[in-house]
Amino acid sequence: MSHHTMNADAFDREHLWHPYTSAVNPLPVYKVSHAQGSTIVLDDGTTLIDGMSSWWCAIHGYNHPVLNQAASNQLQKMSHVMFGGFTHDPAIELGKLLLQIAPPSMDRIFYADSGSVAVEVALKMAVQYWAVQGKTHKQNIATIRQGYHGDTWNAMSVCDPVTGMHQIFGSSLPTRLFVSAPESGFYDEWNDADIHELEQLFATNHHEMAAFIIEPIMQGAGGMRFYHPQYLVELKRLCEQYGVLLIFDEIATGFGRTGKMFAWEHANVQPDIMCIGKGLTGGYMTLSAVLATAKVAEVLSSGSPGVFMHGPTFMGNPLACAVARSSTQLLLSQDWQGTVQHIEAQLNEQLAPATSWSWVRDVRVLGTIGVIEMQEPVDMGALQKEFVKRGIWVRPFGRLVYIMPPYVISDDELRTLTTELLAVVEQIGVGQ
Ligand SMILES: *Cc1c(COP(=O)(O)O)cnc(C)c1O
Repeated sequence: MSHHTMNADAFDREHLWHPYTSAVNPLPVYKVSHAQGSTIVLDDGTTLIDGMSSWWCAIHGYNHPVLNQAASNQLQKMSHVMFGGFTHDPAIELGKLLLQIAPPSMDRIFYADSGSVAVEVALKMAVQYWAVQGKTHKQNIATIRQGYHGDTWNAMSVCDPVTGMHQIFGSSLPTRLFVSAPESGFYDEWNDADIHELEQLFATNHHEMAAFIIEPIMQGAGGMRFYHPQYLVELKRLCEQYGVLLIFDEIATGFGRTGKMFAWEHANVQPDIMCIGKGLTGGYMTLSAVLATAKVAEVLSSGSPGVFMHGPTFMGNPLACAVARSSTQLLLSQDWQGTVQHIEAQLNEQLAPATSWSWVRDVRVLGTIGVIEMQEPVDMGALQKEFVKRGIWVRPFGRLVYIMPPYVISDDELRTLTTELLAVVEQIGVGQ
């Protein structure tokens, strides 16, 4: 039955590009008719329990009445109006909320279109920050390996040089400064050896460093790694000592995913600039924001040209801001931390059997994120087919089979999700 659904429309197959699959011989796609709560319903009626939250976004699940209402109310007023020369309540009210939940150091908000654009904006802010102070040698960006910061040009340049796209784009990408990612895991003892390379980097290269960008606590698409909070404490110390801006990319970690509203709270380390996106609109539409300290904003506005050189057409889009405000309010109006902890406890218990399988390298959980790291890369196409057959939506990559369900997932749904997930992962070993 579900084989039938693999043959999605011929038009899609022949004309629509899907992410990270061949344009001429693509992996199958499944046609979705609608989605509700933590389930996605296919055209043929197959219902899938969602393990992906549409790539971190749909924190409240799909088709949520409160978010629908917020979108519909805003549509009666205006969907969009330019932000140059105008402002509006959705942007203002969302901004007030964001400053309530952001690190206290954050003071100014720049709305952007997507996560990748937020990263571009953050990097530009950092470079312009030093340039207006006459420090035009501080133009490079440093980061750790195994990171992921998006698919646009400069975002790509700070992604992991091996698993990222550096080989393909070669010297057309700016050359960034990389150090090894910390080895001390989130739950491990801190090992001071983790900062030796970092100290070296700052000592040697601080003259050319505008900023250090990092995903705090959890490295997402670059490897689903959870590292020790002390690393951020040491990183902040070095940034201050050597005069380098610290940028946190909280695009995946934001809005409760790791058990804190934002992941910086695990380390109590505040950045100079912070990027948020993904869960910001509850997965309704694209919107991101770059938050900065008052100091960054003041310095950027001093000297020449006196303004920050970026201004997207859809900046502060009222429809997206209205839904983002509603989504954030919805999150804050409930015991989201209790919910995340409850899901975390279930993931810990339900994924545990996989730890004893020889074909599994590691099983780890943080907040609502559950990761099974395999010894060998998995066959995504084959696995996806098997997941759909079993009524769950999981999209692995490389050696990583992972889930981060919507927070509204019920105990029964989560139990089904993890049971079917483990059944498929177990089969991989039996097949070897
Ligand atoms: C997804 C992601 C991005 C890019 O966001 P897009 O909206 O896909 O451009 C950047 N940084 C991190 C940490 C992400 O997870």
